[in-house]
Amino acid sequence: MRHLPDYGDKQMRTVYLNGEYVAENEAKVSIFDRGFLMADGVYEVTTVLDGKLIDFDGHAVRLQRSLAELGMENPISKDDLLEVHRELVRINEIDQGMIYLQITRGAPDDRDFAYPPEDTPQTIVLFTQNKPGLADSPAAQKGIKVISIEDQRWARRDIKTVQLLYPSMGKMMAKAAGCDDAWMVEDGHVTEGTSNNAYIIKGNTIITRHLGNEILHGITRAAVLRFAKEAQMTVEERSFTIGEAQDADEAFITSASTFVMPVVEVDGAAVGTGAVGPVATRLREIYLEESRKVAV
Ligand code: PMP
Repeated sequence: MRHLPDYGDKQMRTVYLNGEYVAENEAKVSIFDRGFLMADGVYEVTTVLDGKLIDFDGHAVRLQRSLAELGMENPISKDDLLEVHRELVRINEIDQGMIYLQITRGAPDDRDFAYPPEDTPQTIVLFTQNKPGLADSPAAQKGIKVISIEDQRWARRDIKTVQLLYPSMGKMMAKAAGCDDAWMVEDGHVTEGTSNNAYIIKGNTIITRHLGNEILHGITRAAVLRFAKEAQMTVEERSFTIGEAQDADEAFITSASTFVMPVVEVDGAAVGTGAVGPVATRLREIYLEESRKVAV
């Protein structure tokens, strides 16, 4: 049982907005905020297991990079950011779940394509998402089904911006097809999933797209590839096609909140036996075990 702070008649999350901890219904952002008007903002999602943060350093480093690529300041030091994450976990009594963080270029006096003056205060928001049982998701036993769709996102997918409309449409296309997610395809090759990196396994080799502007540099991807190499698996960072995925022995996705999630069907074709395979299962176990050991 969680005992959240009681704000009058309702138990609510406490969120962080621009230096203050407030009830979720008290957290207000201007209609002129560039995150709202222009999707001029970046975000991170850090997972919480056993009340501790998974790979906080990796997320902090990627946040810094996303901000720098957009010419934005980082309004918060890494130490303070860690403190805010921990405080939100504590106040909201999160055992398993996520912390969402968003930083925008702030709210100037009016709407304008040009960036606002440099002294415009940025907006920084963090909130918790409580997900009991996140690590024991039944989907990990069953595997998920994906469809392929054309990748129609902008070209700087390496920057973790909040312009998520196309991935959101992709998720709906997958649902409409009775599937769980969509793998996006560009020039005949898979880029990534709507909110995750994509992998296939052939023999003892794990194949996943090389880094570049075409995909988000997943924090979970980096960790999983490191663990795979430590476990003497071969890793090939190259692009692959939907046909290769359908012919693979296994397939899976990774993201902070799904860890390693097996994929058992691609565009209606079973991958391997059509059941969750041993390599994805093992990688999931290793990832969870090793990440928990170094969680902060
Ligand atoms: N690709 C995309 C497009 C994503 O949105 C995400 C998750 N936000 C990922 C990959 C996985 O990144 P991470 O492992 O850092 O969660």
